[in-house]
Amino acid sequence: MHATPDDDAPMFAPDAFRLEPAQAALIGKARRFGKRVLAPRAAQHDRDATFPIENFRDMKDEGLLAICVPKPYGGAGADFQTYCLAAAELGRYCGATALSWNMHVCSTLWSGPLADDLPMSEADRAGHEARRRVHYARIVDEGAVYAQPFSEGGAAAAGTVAFGTEARVVDGGFLVNGKKIFASLSGSADYYGILCTERAGGEAASRRNTLYLAVPAASKGVKVVGDWDPLGMRGTVSRTLLLEDAFVPESEMLMPHGVYFEAATRWPHMFLTLSPTYMGLAQAAYDFTVAYLRGELPGMPPVKRRMYPTKQIAVAEMRIMLEQTKALWFQAVTEARANPGKEQVLRAYAAQHTVMENANAIATKAIRTCGGQAMLKSLPLERIYRDSRCGSLMLPWTAEICVDRIGREALYEAGETDG
Ligand SMILES: Cc1cc2nc3c(=O)[nH]c(=O)nc-3n(C[C@H](O)[C@H](O)[C@H](O)COP(=O)(O)OP(=O)(O)OC[C@H]3O[C@@H](n4cnc5c(N)ncnc54)[C@H](O)[C@@H]3O)c2cc1C
Repeated sequence: MHATPDDDAPMFAPDAFRLEPAQAALIGKARRFGKRVLAPRAAQHDRDATFPIENFRDMKDEGLLAICVPKPYGGAGADFQTYCLAAAELGRYCGATALSWNMHVCSTLWSGPLADDLPMSEADRAGHEARRRVHYARIVDEGAVYAQPFSEGGAAAAGTVAFGTEARVVDGGFLVNGKKIFASLSGSADYYGILCTERAGGEAASRRNTLYLAVPAASKGVKVVGDWDPLGMRGTVSRTLLLEDAFVPESEMLMPHGVYFEAATRWPHMFLTLSPTYMGLAQAAYDFTVAYLRGELPGMPPVKRRMYPTKQIAVAEMRIMLEQTKALWFQAVTEARANPGKEQVLRAYAAQHTVMENANAIATKAIRTCGGQAMLKSLPLERIYRDSRCGSLMLPWTAEICVDRIGREALYEAGETDG
């Protein structure tokens, strides 16, 4: 399929990548929505660092807010791979919306298909069913938007220590206290899906007691503070969230006690969900370059620059890097499952690292290849370049942490030491 004014060619052609018709339809819907709705609004939100809440309102009507809500609850029932491919398509048109959408969708993906894969007692499963029914109804019927603020500025978001944000058990729920930095969707989300440490009595803080809680934005004791004026992903509006004795009812648990820890251990690909946005940005930088050099970019004079051998070589190098990135990433998101083998986990780290680093490398090359006029703010490339720089920094799988883990886990089996 080739690009038309209403649609672009899919990043992953359904026949070549053996996608089911239903998957292809959902992913195609996301792509057309991205081109039609997200792209025209992206520049202004980037310039003003404002959150594109109207995109989320429109996503409700498209069924995209509920893409991973299981079908029995009224959602589209997308699995991990389908979600990732749809998110990559959105990332081509507005990185900030795709990244924020990821935060929202994870509240349903993790409590939905992922939780279904995890062992739970019958009582926990029944409680989880009852609670998630309420969350999903909010999203499906009311268009509620969920954020996912985990980061605290310390070692917890990297997964090495317990979260400093604490949920103290009280009658009927929890009193939550703490601070979350980089809370994308801050001030716009209806619920903040936070990770915190459950504390009862005098027991020590432990990662095993991580609790995944939906804190209603309107709760007493919930505040958004600080400014937001970053290099890239400006539309995510990731300000600081303060929780001061915020009472959260037990019914707001997005996973039963102890299940988040099981998910993080048994379903490591859950941390790969930041990568689709950046996969989309890599494709966007390449597509821009081809259109620009062919003199086909809307709003630009039809000047062709494709006849210079240096341009052709640069495009070839970009294409090779893009194909390598897509192939590895597609494999990693396709084999995501509970209890993956060591090879699959190493491949997931490698895919995350590759996407995050290559998205920015391709965008950098796009600017050098297209030239000065291409980096004006009237065109999307300079935004793609800035947005693509952010991916490697995102915990828990920053580019550095991926390198760290690949090296260690390739050389040491679990429990092995040199002592
Ligand atoms: C645009 C944007 C949106 C974001 N949105 C969200 C959001 O919605 N929710 C959310 O929870 N977070 C969000 N984040 C935060 C992000 O996931 C990281 O937590 C944040 O970028 C970390 O910044 P820091 O300076 O505190 O990192 P630090 O913790 O100071 O780490 C700095 C670097 O040191 C390295 N490092 C850290 N720990 C280790 C370790 N244990 N081993 C080896 N190396 C390590 C990493 O490479 C890291 O990049 C967002 C970030 C960005 C840029």
